[in-house]
Amino acid sequence: MTFRTRFAPSPTGPLHLGHAYSALLNSDLAREAGGEFLLRIEDIDRARSKPEWEMQIYDDLHWLGLVWPDPVMRQSDRLPVYEAALDRLWDRGLLYSCTCRRADIAAAIAAPQEGSLPLGPDGLIYPGTCRHARPRTGPRPRDLPLRLDLSTAVADGHEFRFRETGEHPGDVIFDKPDLIRDVGDIVLSRRDMGTSYHLSVVLDDAAQEISHVVRGGDLFEATRIHVLLQDLLDLRTPIYHHHRLIRDEAGKRLAKRDDARAIALYRSEGRSPADIRAMVRLEAGP
Ligand code: GLU
Repeated sequence: MTFRTRFAPSPTGPLHLGHAYSALLNSDLAREAGGEFLLRIEDIDRARSKPEWEMQIYDDLHWLGLVWPDPVMRQSDRLPVYEAALDRLWDRGLLYSCTCRRADIAAAIAAPQEGSLPLGPDGLIYPGTCRHARPRTGPRPRDLPLRLDLSTAVADGHEFRFRETGEHPGDVIFDKPDLIRDVGDIVLSRRDMGTSYHLSVVLDDAAQEISHVVRGGDLFEATRIHVLLQDLLDLRTPIYHHHRLIRDEAGKRLAKRDDARAIALYRSEGRSPADIRAMVRLEAGP
């Protein structure tokens, strides 16, 4: 299989140093392996995605010296693929619609639970309020969020694993009790998107035949959700490489709102791509 990586930004704000590091590392690793680097635009959040941010992404990445094949995959073009996967899971009785708001979930958890609320990679771990409250037969509901019924979806004793080659290399192994405790019944289709980050990313990595998913360590915990979905949808599990995060002077991870570290700003100040590499402590490129 071709060594293939991807950088998958969401066009919801300017790319900052953390994005530059991730994109450059993806491209460097692919080049060193004689493989291919792809770009994917993750724009399922229609309310926050803006064409001007997408244009800025292309511009910043070209300036950094990155090249990728055309056409670029855009998630907004792939809604039928996500719908088909949801239909498959719905037809198997693995999804249920949910009307809980965040406050309802917090209240349901807080009652039996003293202290802090259990948080998984996808927010509060769902207490299961709607799990058996609505029919799972008939057409798939389009106007409500859909959750995955983890207990039904995963067989007892089934073991999942993935290979990690990033900061903490090794085989990561987990099972049903781990998922029930740490992940819960996650939302696979959001009301306003008709899909979710987790479902889309898994289907797209498979469609683009990504062999190595290289991304920030903040997504390490979410990878268990991705491996679970690959299992349920009969998709290959790639190798994962979760890299260090670029932090500000106070040690805080950079976010989209950290415009002070936007690549565009460094560019306007006359910095070079080599300066950016030095700032994120990446060796010189080609
Ligand atoms: N669109 C995601 C982000 O910008 C990328 C997630 C991934 O690389 O899997 O954080």
